[in-house]
Amino acid sequence: MSELETFKEHLREAHALHKAADLLEWDQQVNMPRQGVTARMEQTALLKRLVHERLADPRLGERARTLLAGLPAGSDEAALARWTLREQERRSKVPARLVAELARQTSLAQDVWVEARAKSDFGLFAPALERVVELKREQARALGPADRLYDAWLSEFEPGMTTPQIAALLEGLKPELIALTRAVAAQPSAVDDAPLRGRFPLDAQRSVCEQAAQAIGFDFSAGRLDVSAHPFCTSFSRGDVRLTTRFSEASFVGALFGVLHEAGHGLYEQNVAAALEGLPLCAGSTMGLHESQSRLWENIVGRSRGFCAFFLPRLKAAFPQLSGLSAEGLYRAVNRATPSLIRVEADELTYGLHVILRFELEQDLLSGALRVADLPAAWAAKTRAYLGLTPPDDARGVLQDVHWSDGLFGYFPTYVLGNVISAQLFAAAVAARPGIPRSMAAGDFSALRGWLAENVHRHGRKLFAGELVLQATGKEISPEPYLSYLRAKFGELYSL
Ligand code: ZN
Repeated sequence: MSELETFKEHLREAHALHKAADLLEWDQQVNMPRQGVTARMEQTALLKRLVHERLADPRLGERARTLLAGLPAGSDEAALARWTLREQERRSKVPARLVAELARQTSLAQDVWVEARAKSDFGLFAPALERVVELKREQARALGPADRLYDAWLSEFEPGMTTPQIAALLEGLKPELIALTRAVAAQPSAVDDAPLRGRFPLDAQRSVCEQAAQAIGFDFSAGRLDVSAHPFCTSFSRGDVRLTTRFSEASFVGALFGVLHEAGHGLYEQNVAAALEGLPLCAGSTMGLHESQSRLWENIVGRSRGFCAFFLPRLKAAFPQLSGLSAEGLYRAVNRATPSLIRVEADELTYGLHVILRFELEQDLLSGALRVADLPAAWAAKTRAYLGLTPPDDARGVLQDVHWSDGLFGYFPTYVLGNVISAQLFAAAVAARPGIPRSMAAGDFSALRGWLAENVHRHGRKLFAGELVLQATGKEISPEPYLSYLRAKFGELYSL
């Protein structure tokens, strides 16, 4: 076997082990009885340790470096060597003791967080969070660079992007998001979503969700839809992509748009180039880029006039109580915007402010400018300044997200990055194929899907977000397309 083949074989094994761990995790979320949890944690941890040992191996890094020097730039193999080198360096920089301590502390902190949130008592959670922040700081110092520690947190989810870049993007959005949110909050009854409330049988909801995913092109012969407490998408290969959602009888909106979101992630995974199958590059790229695909189908497509016109007859067939609803009524109802306290329930317009608040607090925690004990007050102050609301308690404020208890610092900004990129990609797709909006209203999404497959999906993990966006749109990532999309949409809906 050639040097390159041996290298690929090693990575194929690591990838297979990684996917086996993912499958155990999917099963835990979807099927596993509660009493299985202790044994399952051990099983998953073993597989992850095997993946880690293979990818942190210094000989692998050496081999990647040598190969990279001799491979044609832009080739799949060069991208694979670059990915491997980065992964190997990253994994070998953090001492095994710290990895184990972080796993232990975050698992403890998550337990405490569940109780603290139920009791709405931040004081209960603070000591555990302090320990997690301390360990995450230590991890950032191990990963570097020393003069920009937040980069270490960010690059876990958004490799290729620096803190100043993401900060500039968010700063570019902030004033206008605040202004639009204020304007919308001033007219709470301008857009009515009452028609979407009622009783919607779960079987009919499930059918509607499957129809929506199928309509946008999610291939059910290479995927499935299940129910879990927290919706997600995971893939084991191009031919096996799993979506989950959750249903509530009081409304179909959460499940429908949740499925469009996850199916957007799923389309990405199903359309990676066949040549990358079985290798670590066979996956969506960074978190921000992945989120751009889910947000594009959920919001830019799903919440468009065209999609509403196309999909309304199917909704009426499933839910007879909607018989009097017009396409325009549906469009307005699913786009109602209003400032709210809980990020995961926030609408398209106000969502970004929830993220900006968290990004700013994370940086202050890392630098030491903010102490854990002072988090609730800082959270409340920013919620007032950005959203005009005061959290009545910790559960609806600083304790609402699981991320920090799990050590997931640097993750939040990728959500907004996804929104920003989604608008830029959609604008480029429509510029290249002007028939896209019209065909969407006819329920034909093939032109858009084809453009995305060609310009985004097929590359898998070969490119970072900034590189891919530049290649696909001819421009650096910019907040402008997203802002003009929001201005146009909400300006018209709210007559601003
Ligand atoms: Zn997502």
